[in-house]
Amino acid sequence: MTKPSPSRFDAIVIGAGFSGLYALHRLRELGVRTLVLEAAEDVGGTWLFNRYPGARCDIESIEYSYSFSDEIQQEWVWTETMPAQPEIEAYLHFVADKLDLRRDIRFNTRVVAMTYDEAAGEWMVQTQSGESLVASFVVAASGILSVPLDPDFPGMETFTGASLFTGHWPKEGFDLSGKRVGVIGTGSTGVQLIPVVAKEAEHLTVFQRSPAYTLPWEVRPFDDGELDELKANYAEIRAAQRQHAVGAARLSAFSVLFDMMAKPPLKAASRQEQLRAIEEGGVMGALSWGDVFFDIEANRMAAKLYGEAVARIVKDPETAASLTPSHPFGCKRPIIDQGYYDTFNRDNVTLVDLRKGPIVEITPTGIRTEQGHHDLDVIIYATGFDAMTGALTRINVHGRDRLSLADFWSSEGPYTYLGIAVAGFPNLFIVQAPGSPSAATNFVAALEQHIEWIGDCIAYLRDNGYRTIEALPDAQHEWIEHTTALVAPTVLVDPSCSSWYNGGNVPGKKRMYMGYTAGIPEYRRRCDEIADAGYTGFKLG
Ligand code: NAP
Repeated sequence: MTKPSPSRFDAIVIGAGFSGLYALHRLRELGVRTLVLEAAEDVGGTWLFNRYPGARCDIESIEYSYSFSDEIQQEWVWTETMPAQPEIEAYLHFVADKLDLRRDIRFNTRVVAMTYDEAAGEWMVQTQSGESLVASFVVAASGILSVPLDPDFPGMETFTGASLFTGHWPKEGFDLSGKRVGVIGTGSTGVQLIPVVAKEAEHLTVFQRSPAYTLPWEVRPFDDGELDELKANYAEIRAAQRQHAVGAARLSAFSVLFDMMAKPPLKAASRQEQLRAIEEGGVMGALSWGDVFFDIEANRMAAKLYGEAVARIVKDPETAASLTPSHPFGCKRPIIDQGYYDTFNRDNVTLVDLRKGPIVEITPTGIRTEQGHHDLDVIIYATGFDAMTGALTRINVHGRDRLSLADFWSSEGPYTYLGIAVAGFPNLFIVQAPGSPSAATNFVAALEQHIEWIGDCIAYLRDNGYRTIEALPDAQHEWIEHTTALVAPTVLVDPSCSSWYNGGNVPGKKRMYMGYTAGIPEYRRRCDEIADAGYTGFKLG
């Protein structure tokens, strides 16, 4: 496509995580001269940085993995049903080596700006070291949860102990034994971290703003021969996964939520039926009702029942009440855990309910809330991410007529067409942008569909003599209307819902639910229909 040169490429891929690695492989297969730029020193993306104790995936390993290569899925050996961070990192190293990907990846290379040259129909990509590279296409595989949202509590810099951030945990680890540790944040990360830290630290104080809805789950090593048996049935496993709305047909944080929707309504259940549900199913039983996701009243009833189920596990009534959420279930991403509530029965664990008085400041010796001061040796911040848009808004992206992507998304909202492209930004493909299924599905299943569609699109343009593709504003508008209409009948749009799903966790971020909720198969059908019709909703040039 372009003339070979050390600084010109057919495609530049930003990021060498799950998406970027597959993008490179796929584009290479299609004969597209591709370079990957990666800010980190190695492959792995978000799985490289989130090395905090307890980090693991909440989707089964045999499904949270690439399906495009039978050789890879047969050769790689998962040791546990749900993989821990070190194993996922090792898996991505294995894939990079197996496919000989590293020779086309530049590590320690952060992209700081990208400008579309309208006359040439190309992107100028600038790196932090001042280098300029040119590419016909840019594939932003920069991740949906790759930019940690570091908090800015007053006095943070005065703390004389150790401050640790789950989103960039020290590679060499950190010995918490004998330490008084404070954890801020009880999302997926905090819920995974807290039971592990409690066992290691002398004392753990959890600073909780919003209690989590979290479902207990057994993660276990595979039994002898179990993985081999699964691998022998991989074709069926992948086929079932492909047809499942959340891209994971086996049990996962998402399929649990999905399965709940098929249950009878809570509002029609007698008190006896409700009690039986929590007797038999615990916290899971409290939430497993068909109307909870659609009816805010039913959701509030479920929250109350959930509190009763928590109180059956957590011995101290005040702590149990503090662990009962007051926001609707479903607004934040579903969480599964290993021994979360039991952790609060330990003598060395204290819960601080920030709903009774927030954090005022970090002091040289600990954390001061409106309720009092807590002396600490270590503070762990598990405060989340500037999700979905954060990675690209931190790059100075300018499209047609110098339109800034960050300005467009912050003034209009995180609009895209198909969750892949943005009007005004020709030849820029975004993997799992807002408006794609990513956020509420198995990320790996969703990204494979995206990369394959993007690869086919680039090949189509090349084979048919086109040089540019750009989303049309009307098509983008209709797509956003469609994605918004899908969530309208759910509790996700309740004003009390605030999470990274809708940008509510980032001060000042324009709120909009950023997922596509009709599921991956329907999404794939729509994307294919659009491609088959010659890329309707796009202008080809
Ligand atoms: P998160 O879900 O956004 O949770 C952040 C936590 O920090 C929340 O409890 C939040 O409270 C709290 N927080 C933020 N700012 C605070 C402040 N100023 N004061 C007090 N508390 C504050 O982030 P996350 O736990 O890192 O998870 C993000 C996503 O990463 C997950 O939803 C999931 O998609 C992914 N993830 C997946 C796994 C897995 O596969 N198991 C593991 C980890 C992460 P509020 O809720 O009140 O804002």
